[in-house]
Amino acid sequence: MIKSSFEYLTPETLPIAYDFKKKYEDSVYLGGGTDYIPLLKYNLKKPKNVISLEKVMELKKIEKDEEGIFIGSMVTLTEIYENRFIIDSFTALAQAARRAASPQIRNTGTIGGNVLQDRRCMYFNQSEDWRSNLAPCFKIGGDICHQAPKSEICRALYYSDIAPALLSLDVEAEIFDGRLRRISVSELIKSHVDRNGLLKTHDFILKGFYIPYLPENCWTKFEKYSLRASIDFPIMNIATRYSQNKENRVAKIIVGAVSPMPIELIDTEVMIINKLDNLTESKDDIAKFALSELTKKSQLVRETGVSIKVKRNTFKNILRAVDDLIFMIIQIN
Ligand SMILES: Cc1cc2nc3c(=O)[nH]c(=O)nc-3n(C[C@H](O)[C@H](O)[C@H](O)COP(=O)(O)OP(=O)(O)OC[C@H]3O[C@@H](n4cnc5c(N)ncnc54)[C@H](O)[C@@H]3O)c2cc1C
Repeated sequence: MIKSSFEYLTPETLPIAYDFKKKYEDSVYLGGGTDYIPLLKYNLKKPKNVISLEKVMELKKIEKDEEGIFIGSMVTLTEIYENRFIIDSFTALAQAARRAASPQIRNTGTIGGNVLQDRRCMYFNQSEDWRSNLAPCFKIGGDICHQAPKSEICRALYYSDIAPALLSLDVEAEIFDGRLRRISVSELIKSHVDRNGLLKTHDFILKGFYIPYLPENCWTKFEKYSLRASIDFPIMNIATRYSQNKENRVAKIIVGAVSPMPIELIDTEVMIINKLDNLTESKDDIAKFALSELTKKSQLVRETGVSIKVKRNTFKNILRAVDDLIFMIIQIN
């Protein structure tokens, strides 16, 4: 049950939606509401004003130009994985949208809300009763992380399935904060993750994402591991990409749900590019190296239903993901 009452506002343009946030104290934007409404019901969020973006039509567009595609923040996950052009051009993104949550949530949940979803923790995503004997943690304005009491920051995990796919694709986020500007998607996610551990909200509206086309010689893939295939947050997800043209060869491996922010296996990516001429001989070493880089960079915490041991066991799937990536690079070359 939602205990705190709030005003529900439905602006129809971007500037008006932005003005509402300035004008109305303690207000929050709402996309499809699939992530935010459960937090309201748990009394974890108590805004005075909820600004729905449902009627802002320019946030619902998918538009192509000569260099890339723009996907509005209010485009639903279903619309993404049913879009033929996205399936063909950015397979990993379509796969990520297809694997998030359940059909009902994908029909309502948006790409913007997915990336800006709250980080989750077994001490935070609980009813008020459950939390009543615990000191408030960083995420609700307190000064402790119950997962790691000595930590100076919140260690809640970020489970977005869409984020690793976008991070693998050189995406820029378009944000509106009185004027329209573009920032890299990694900057957007980093600032979201930091603020989200501190009870801070954004003042900007996320307008959408601009994804530059990949060269013809490319391959992208998204994989997700979860307890139930039908509906579950990821135990781990992996987005991989390889692309090449005359000037440039790019390998990307992004792993999500194993730390507060998706991890890029940069050292493994560099190793792949340095060994392009003898990948067949080096592939086992590269895969093992990826596993050790992932283990080193992950920041696991206790989760409901998944032990740290099970989670760490899931890391082994990186071996196959890297093997698949290398196989495809060999085919492309
Ligand atoms: C049972 C369940 C299972 C789930 N499983 C998964 C899963 O497997 N994988 C996964 O990735 N997610 C999962 N989710 C999380 C979530 O529902 C989805 O990620 C969904 O895409 C969120 O989109 P939304 O539009 O509903 O977000 P909302 O709830 O509307 O918003 C989420 C946050 O984003 C902000 N926001 C939204 N749009 C904008 C905008 N345009 N500008 C500025 N701020 C904005 C809101 O203020 C809010 O803080 C699950 C949720 C539930 C309840």
